[in-house]
Amino acid sequence: MSTTVAFLGLGHMGGPMAANLVSGGYAVTGFDLAAPALEQARRDGVAVADTAVDAVASADVVVTMLPSGAHVLGLYDEILPAARPGTLFVDCSTIDVADARAAHDKAVAAGHRNVDAPVSGGVVGATAGTLAFMVGGSDEDFAAVSPLLDVMGRKVVHCGGPGVGQAAKICNNMILGVSMIAVSEAFVLGEKLGLSNQALFDVASNASGQCWALTTNCPVPGPVPTSPANNDYQPGFAVALMDKDLGLAANALESHGVAAELGRRAADIYRRLHSDGAGGQDFSAVVNAIRSHSTTDKDVK
Ligand code: NAD
Repeated sequence: MSTTVAFLGLGHMGGPMAANLVSGGYAVTGFDLAAPALEQARRDGVAVADTAVDAVASADVVVTMLPSGAHVLGLYDEILPAARPGTLFVDCSTIDVADARAAHDKAVAAGHRNVDAPVSGGVVGATAGTLAFMVGGSDEDFAAVSPLLDVMGRKVVHCGGPGVGQAAKICNNMILGVSMIAVSEAFVLGEKLGLSNQALFDVASNASGQCWALTTNCPVPGPVPTSPANNDYQPGFAVALMDKDLGLAANALESHGVAAELGRRAADIYRRLHSDGAGGQDFSAVVNAIRSHSTTDKDVK
């Protein structure tokens, strides 16, 4: 295989993704600001560069997996001039749609190609090579990047032009955030009404309340033994990440004037949960906040 990949950002997600590319036969040169990430990458067979600029110099494809849009745009300013003309830049970070489009424009202005390809599936999916990729970019660039994404994921969807992969990511996670709150509110109401969690699950999972938040990531312990609720709400998908993604959704709702009351409210609820110290818990822990903020029956007139 002749494609050479530079992988920048070897954290919780990027580390295992780069390792899977190595296993898939790609020559991968990596860089991260954190020494432990570099050491793990070296153990996984990644050639570690001294700087991001060094990593991209001889790459055909540059993958970034960074915390935010500011990180991506800042790093692009550094590395775009150092890459060979026509290099394909693939940003897998979750970032603002506007930042993704700005990153695309920077890459193209510097004589390169770019797609946004955010993921879902978390660290488990990154490690197992079963991520879902949502890709924004031209047909030609999508065709070029697909074989690489197939090595790291199970499902690769071409969502549209530049930035539209990020749009799919934040729309999906807005559904997820809102539906987890709705499911959690229903469990707490059921408890107040004398309905057992198991009975509500048995009904709703076979009725019109059925959704992923209920049947896979059930927020109460018991009905779905593999859900994080059975493991003291260890993620899973952390509250801090849901807060970030709903913040991106709320920005997009605001800038496009969408009358989405529940999306905005879900962003507020997860921001508060994060600032109350639950950032490291699975996002289904919202059920505990709903329960603890509820009045006791004797307070209700
Ligand atoms: P992380 O913090 O573990 O990793 C980010 C890495 O980027 C860190 O190791 C950091 O040192 C490195 N970095 C920052 N600036 C850099 C620079 N200039 N050059 C090189 N490296 C740099 O975060 P993560 O959990 O791996 O998430 C990465 C992205 O994936 C985020 O955008 C996140 O929203 C998204 N995401 C995460 C998950 C998840 O479950 N963790 C799921 C889906 C999407």
